[in-house]
Amino acid sequence: MKFNTKTIHGGQHNVDPAYGAVMPPIYQTSTYSQTTPGGHKGYEYSRSGNPTRTALENAFASLENGKFGLAFSSGLAAIDAVLKLLKPGDEVVSTNDLYGGSYRLFTKIYQDFGIKFHFVGMQDASAIEKHINKNTKLLWVETPTNPMMNIIDIKACAVLSKKHNLLLAVDNTFATPYLQQPLEIGADIVMHSATKYLGGHSDVVIGALIVKDEKLAERLYFIQNASGAVCGPQDSFLVLRGIKTLHIRMQRHCENGKAIAEYLTSHPKIEKVYWPGLPSHPNHEIAKKQMKDFGGMISFTTKGNIMADAIKVVERLKIFTLAESLGGVESLAGHPASMTHASIPKVEREKTGVVDSLIRLSVGIEDIDDLIADLKQALG
Ligand SMILES: *Cc1c(COP(=O)(O)O)cnc(C)c1O
Repeated sequence: MKFNTKTIHGGQHNVDPAYGAVMPPIYQTSTYSQTTPGGHKGYEYSRSGNPTRTALENAFASLENGKFGLAFSSGLAAIDAVLKLLKPGDEVVSTNDLYGGSYRLFTKIYQDFGIKFHFVGMQDASAIEKHINKNTKLLWVETPTNPMMNIIDIKACAVLSKKHNLLLAVDNTFATPYLQQPLEIGADIVMHSATKYLGGHSDVVIGALIVKDEKLAERLYFIQNASGAVCGPQDSFLVLRGIKTLHIRMQRHCENGKAIAEYLTSHPKIEKVYWPGLPSHPNHEIAKKQMKDFGGMISFTTKGNIMADAIKVVERLKIFTLAESLGGVESLAGHPASMTHASIPKVEREKTGVVDSLIRLSVGIEDIDDLIADLKQALG
């Protein structure tokens, strides 16, 4: 099955054996009747499993060419489950330009449990290996990174993870499986905040893990059930519905992203534009190799790097909504230094490029003329 068919049918055959409903029913139930103790039809309690969630988990697995999908109550709950594979004394190498919530989970919770994190500019693959030692267990990769849009070479990370016997996990939230499929090029775990592009309509919070290896899937399933951060059936249904249009939404996100990146590049008040599809992007060559297209996430800075200027721009936007999050059909704008990255100390965030004037756009699928006109008036 090809990708555009998988978004609609992947993992979804016979979702309603009772009546043949085309969409999986929302099984709004916590428990399931048994004929004799242990005599059930595959489900006994909805933390352990729910048929609507199973339909979503199968869709996740299909999209990423994995074998097993797991759905969680949020992206962070999915990341949390991966970290629970580790023990005190273990070490993790990750990117220094990481989603703020992941950074907070790593440094404010798991560090206190005795896990050590190294944050490295992973877009330079040669910088990674010197942080690997005998305690290292996990490479945590995010690409494109948030919000600097650095591209990390997943294949190069896979070579390192095989060489040192590490797990390689990739947060694929920004790219989606439409643009890249990390399991195909050597990753062990793919993670998503399905809150973003997979759901696609800014109406639900869900996380995903997808793996190929059965033993790893069993360990993660054990953690999912034992820790209990599962998503409900209504939310599972919404993400299933969203996934059905992922391919056409992504196509438009990419087209609009390109037009806006080019517009901003030529604008006299703009200092820098970060979008991996621009030939001037420092990791453009890896992006071309690794990704099918370049997505709808763009960051830029205004000339002079004045926080008040950037805030004025995001406040003036009318079609772009000033909001956290990304990946929905509607265009959003954010100011990372005061919003998504406020939990990262200023000196730390500035080292990676998250300066005061940085603005991040999640380009939606509206008419491109309206989006460009909106940016033009806001920058005017
Ligand atoms: C939003 C996001 C997360 C966290 O997901 P939630 O669903 O908000 O918990 C993790 N990684 C990236 C790249 C994200 O954008």
